[in-house]
Amino acid sequence: RLTTAPQPRCSIQSIPPYVPGRPPTPREGLRSYKLSSNENPYPPLPGVLAASAEAAAGMNRYPDLGSSVLHDALAARLEVPTEHLAVATGSVALIYQLLQAFCEPGDEVIHAWRSFEAYPIAASVAAATSVRVPLTVDGRHDLDAMLTAITPRTRVILVCTPNNPTGPAVTQAELDAFLAVVPSRVLVVLDEAYAEFVRMADPVDGVTTYRRHENVVVTRTFSKAYGLAGLRVGYAVGPAPITAALRAVSLPFGVTAIAQAAAVASLSAQPALAERVETLVAERVRVLDGLRRAGLDVPDAQGNFVWLGFGDDASDFAVACERAGIVVRPFAGDGVRASIGEPEANDRLVEIATEWTTTRT
Ligand code: PMP
Repeated sequence: RLTTAPQPRCSIQSIPPYVPGRPPTPREGLRSYKLSSNENPYPPLPGVLAASAEAAAGMNRYPDLGSSVLHDALAARLEVPTEHLAVATGSVALIYQLLQAFCEPGDEVIHAWRSFEAYPIAASVAAATSVRVPLTVDGRHDLDAMLTAITPRTRVILVCTPNNPTGPAVTQAELDAFLAVVPSRVLVVLDEAYAEFVRMADPVDGVTTYRRHENVVVTRTFSKAYGLAGLRVGYAVGPAPITAALRAVSLPFGVTAIAQAAAVASLSAQPALAERVETLVAERVRVLDGLRRAGLDVPDAQGNFVWLGFGDDASDFAVACERAGIVVRPFAGDGVRASIGEPEANDRLVEIATEWTTTRT
């Protein structure tokens, strides 16, 4: 039908929807668990709740536009100048903003695939073209193939470490070798949403890396290790011209006073939060062992989630989990991602996977 009504840009019309992890359907007699969004299963610390409640009392006012208290707290924690920081409504917002600020229409954004599903969406929003480079068979970034994918149109490369949803992380040596070859005109974004959960030899340290490269920026979040997914706070650390560009395209007043207060309180509650992260890491080790003992070929897991490469059985396995009160995140025809949750939820996941493999072999 011919219409004269306004039409969104072509690249907007073809954007696939962002599929969030579903919450469980409440069921009588069965406690259900949500392992579908890589959230932190712990409730907020009392001090964090108190700080955000205090900030909530001022909700008739706009928040501090520059999030200055949060900038200062992050600068002190990371030992970086405040000009090297930018905060936004979750690290996903920073990824959108980076692509908006750096891509001209038709520029190419290279990222691994499968990886964080927001990457191709963010590229389309920026009128850029997403270039997906397949992961290796064990779910790792194929950095050599990503280098080969660089063209004169490449403007940004997104490196997700640890990789959502498969789990492995890049080493600093691998990253250094990669950065030595990437042309300096290409922005390299290190998406470290799960950095606090990494326990491996030679882990990437984005904050020291950006100091050596004018084309590197790191994104991190309060959603995962800090357990503030519902409040939407993320931050970027990088050279001043990059963080200035992030500020230029940011949504004014996006990070609420409540979110800023909770993030600042979380930074000072580091010991208690770090203890929770340790517990989740220990649970991850336990889940990984259990799944591998069940005969499953599970890639290394460096985030707060595990990947089960069930291929065509992914959706069926997710349904089996759901029946047992566990909501996981299926990627049809590819695999299932399950967050590390409460011990009881983790036990159930391993039980379901064990039963699944024994009945099928
Ligand atoms: N990066 C990765 C790799 C993620 O998995 C996520 C959340 N699923 C994000 C960024 C965004 O997190 P947030 O916007 O909550 O900071």
